[in-house]
Amino acid sequence: MVSHVIPKTYAEALTVLKAGNHRVIAGGTDMMVRHRAWAGLPPLFDKPVLFAFTLSELKYVKEDEQVICIGAMTDLETLLHHERTPALLRQVIAIMASPAIRYVSTLAGNIVNASPAADSLLALYALDAQVVLESTSGKRILSIEKTIVGPGKTVLHDDEMVAEIRIPKTRFTHTMFRKVGGRRADAITKIGFVGCATVNEGIIRDLRLVFNAVAPVVVREKSVEALHVGHSVKNVLSDTDTLMHHYSEHIKPIDDQRSNQHYRKEAALRLARHFLDTLA
Ligand SMILES: Cc1cc2nc3c(=O)[nH]c(=O)nc-3n(C[C@H](O)[C@H](O)[C@H](O)COP(=O)(O)OP(=O)(O)OC[C@H]3O[C@@H](n4cnc5c(N)ncnc54)[C@H](O)[C@@H]3O)c2cc1C
Repeated sequence: MVSHVIPKTYAEALTVLKAGNHRVIAGGTDMMVRHRAWAGLPPLFDKPVLFAFTLSELKYVKEDEQVICIGAMTDLETLLHHERTPALLRQVIAIMASPAIRYVSTLAGNIVNASPAADSLLALYALDAQVVLESTSGKRILSIEKTIVGPGKTVLHDDEMVAEIRIPKTRFTHTMFRKVGGRRADAITKIGFVGCATVNEGIIRDLRLVFNAVAPVVVREKSVEALHVGHSVKNVLSDTDTLMHHYSEHIKPIDDQRSNQHYRKEAALRLARHFLDTLA
């Protein structure tokens, strides 16, 4: 049995995946950890692997008037320093892992790994990112919310690859990103929060509140956000308890070795409240 394939072209990669029997490796920073074997032994994969990180066709950051398009094999360190990378996404990437890991890891890998604590997802949810999935049968373009359906679970078919991530260009008057971890670098998130808003003449025109590591998937409740758009900052701040009550229903963290439910919930709601205070 062939244990691995290193395709020369993207077309070849899709043809190999057509049989639905290969696992894609991008940077391998999740895959190699998840499938690690005893010290000194190679990792144990349940399927042959397709090494995609060398596919130069998928390494780019492009833009048109409305959208920034990121090729799936663009590494995080390149994105961190690229002038076209949205500022919010750059802020998040800056605290992900360490430079050595960022040089060989990708946004696509962070998305497909679908960890509830994945950091880039905070920015991708807040920025309404779309994920382009491709197979030899064609392309599907899905919102980030529709791509990830549970912890470690996506809607990708076995013959599909993430080809590109698309991020609409949006300007906000206020943004905030906070990662609560055990230390400043190379830390797995206890909880994370991104807030984005546009306030004009005291009225909230756009509001986006995103939390990670507090539920099986990243939490962004567009229906709750919409309740506050069109209202004055003053009104919203006079009743943050109602807003917090809405989020309280969706923020259902777990206890684990990094933190407990009570701390996670309290800290998440306080960060959201703090962000709202900055709008005044
Ligand atoms: C020391 C260390 C520190 C870390 N710190 C952080 C951190 O601070 N924040 C954080 O969020 N994560 C962190 N991670 C996790 C990891 O680095 C990220 O999730 C990274 O973005 C994964 O990218 P990758 O290219 O290495 O993915 P891989 O490991 O190659 O793949 C991950 C998953 O995605 C799939 N996949 C990858 N690319 C594609 C594609 N184009 N199409 C279809 N499927 C694909 C793979 O099959 C696999 O299921 C850390 C990991 C390590 C080892």
